[in-house]
Amino acid sequence: LARVYGPIGQLSNVQVQVMTALVSFDRVFEVIDLEPLIKEKPGAAVLARRDAAGTAPSIEFDRVSFRYPTAAEVSLASLESIALKQPERTDAAAGVLHEVSFAAPAGKLTALVGPSGAGKTTITQLVSRMYDPNDGAVRIGGHDITDVTLDSLHDVVGVVTQDAHLFHDTIRANLLYARPSATEREVIEACRAAQIWDLVEVLPDGLDTIVGDRGYRLSGGEKQRVALARLLLKAPSIVVLDEATAHLDSESELAVQQALSVALQGRTSLVIAHRLSTVREADQILVIESGQVAESGTHLELLDAGGLYADLYLTQFKSQESREHPSERVRDS
Ligand code: ADP
Ligand code: MG
Repeated sequence: LARVYGPIGQLSNVQVQVMTALVSFDRVFEVIDLEPLIKEKPGAAVLARRDAAGTAPSIEFDRVSFRYPTAAEVSLASLESIALKQPERTDAAAGVLHEVSFAAPAGKLTALVGPSGAGKTTITQLVSRMYDPNDGAVRIGGHDITDVTLDSLHDVVGVVTQDAHLFHDTIRANLLYARPSATEREVIEACRAAQIWDLVEVLPDGLDTIVGDRGYRLSGGEKQRVALARLLLKAPSIVVLDEATAHLDSESELAVQQALSVALQGRTSLVIAHRLSTVREADQILVIESGQVAESGTHLELLDAGGLYADLYLTQFKSQESREHPSERVRDS
């Protein structure tokens, strides 16, 4: 667990220190003393990375309902995630997900789309057990994830969020963290595949360049690509990804996109899609609205249906079309 939550733990220590300065010690320790909400069952099974045939496991949501824990229920674990993300918070007692059911098939790309606040990030957080559902079950490879060890779950599921957290250390250390035994060659290969090697190579200290606020400042897109390189080294069989917003770094967009396709190959993936190219390539698109799966299908099926996805496509994705596929412009005009 320490391996998985290491950098987050470090960050939130800072947050806790800041909080200590602001509130009385007693109150902070009142919160910290609470039991974590996420617990491993005694005798929990080890979740297999792949089945005997080498296939990555599927993900299944079975009537999952969820609300964020109220202050009284907040554990250190959820305190960490709240402190780091600072979302616009609604009433914690209000339900966020309502009987969400879907299957993300083995080895396929499932894209989540939908309006802001619909519950997409929440769904992805339940896959790595940052929270447990209040009702229903999340299964991976047929196992309820509350029945498997946390270590094996975090071995199987690799997560890259939009604000990829790199710690204040060398690029090499940030990468080796995923797999300490990786060779120099493997590290470089991962950087190449994640389209970040061209940059790393020309830095004065190369892989030994210290990154972070007090070190070499990587752009959002560059950070995400380092995070993708780390993901490739970890080689999880399930990838959960919040794509960077398309407009953030259009100059490196193609590079990020290529890195993504490599990172997702042969893995079961659940991607919060902000790019037209991802939703087009997705084997399945789930349209999330108000904590429910409103529609599902492929890009063409959902366009044909003329529902919420068709609207979203017009407002969110279509503007990317001329940028991503300049040649298609002619067809539209
Ligand atoms: P999306 O990713 O689709 O934009 P989210 O899953 O982030 O949506 O949010 C779904 C709902 O849950 C929103 O109403 C949001 O305000 C709320 N929410 C998100 N994170 C938290 C949190 N840590 N505590 C309380 N409410 C939250
Ligand atoms: Mg989100």
